[in-house]
Amino acid sequence: MKRRDFIKQAGIGAVATTSVAAPAIVSADTKIKWKMVTTWPKNFPVLGTGANQLAKLITQLTDGRIKVKVYGAGELIPAFEVFDAVSRGTAQMGHGSAYYWKGKIEEAQFFSTVPFGMNAQEMNAWLYFGGGMELWKESYEPFGLIPAAAGNTTVQMAGWFNKEINSANDLKGLKMRIPGLGGEVLKRAGGIPVNLPGGELFTSLKTGAIDATEWVGPYNDLAFGLYKAAKYYYYPGWHEPGTTLEAIINKQAFEALPGDLKAIVENACKVVNQDMSLEFAAKNNAALDTLVNKHKVDVRKLPDDVLAKLKALSHEVVSDLAAKNASAQKIYDSYNKFYKQISAWHEISEKIYFNVR
Ligand code: CA
Repeated sequence: MKRRDFIKQAGIGAVATTSVAAPAIVSADTKIKWKMVTTWPKNFPVLGTGANQLAKLITQLTDGRIKVKVYGAGELIPAFEVFDAVSRGTAQMGHGSAYYWKGKIEEAQFFSTVPFGMNAQEMNAWLYFGGGMELWKESYEPFGLIPAAAGNTTVQMAGWFNKEINSANDLKGLKMRIPGLGGEVLKRAGGIPVNLPGGELFTSLKTGAIDATEWVGPYNDLAFGLYKAAKYYYYPGWHEPGTTLEAIINKQAFEALPGDLKAIVENACKVVNQDMSLEFAAKNNAALDTLVNKHKVDVRKLPDDVLAKLKALSHEVVSDLAAKNASAQKIYDSYNKFYKQISAWHEISEKIYFNVR
């Protein structure tokens, strides 16, 4: 029996879900205090401040009936314990991204981003109207968690390089900080993916410990000063074309809310999901201008044959992920079917319009 199925059947790993009693509904004048733990450093641009906005919105819209206090990474628990902390109810909410939990649920990576996969708008369309959200909820159910989309980085940049990439051969031996599925793709292309926390990127790049790093996009990258540590800034972010950020909510805490508060929590996530994409769009645009015109950054497109190679390898990596278990295959099939359909529509709408405007 596959481990995941075993977990499902045995109900283990599902700390908060085994209760069959109806949850006690809190009365309208009860003040509820929730903790939100995040994978981001406190007030981290857009990602951390977006989590702050979500907390503030819930508090405002409920007129203080739910007060949400945000904890940055390491304040209450370390960044990568967010999932477990919310699952066991140490905190009622968390903010991060699903691919951080691949050690527990490998297929959760589909709910963050897929190399050469859907962009922010397409991901949201799949999640809200294409069955993605139902699959995501099913995935987190054994852990007593309810997921919600709560932000999107939009298309990232390929990253900062101290080596020119002129052909797929230049990827061989390239030591690059690139996590997740993108890292696996680079490995298959002969590169050496490494995973480093954000705080170590600048020094590692500057000292030559790594040849390249990806981070997010112009706004976050400018704030990190990465232009002072690398010669070339390559695009596009093939490995993270629209990474969905998530809010996770302890199911028992959520079920205890009256209907109006449930609706507020769900819809506050939707507001932040949209706002964060727009903030990234606005700030990336201004930051790119600063990088190019003030800091004279050499912005380059990855050559077409390099992108073609990475794309072919990405399909292999993602198919292998889908083949890991029945649940991964089900999510992949849904994702892929939606992706094909929306791509056909976007060929004659968004894409052609971008080319002709
Ligand atoms: Ca990234």
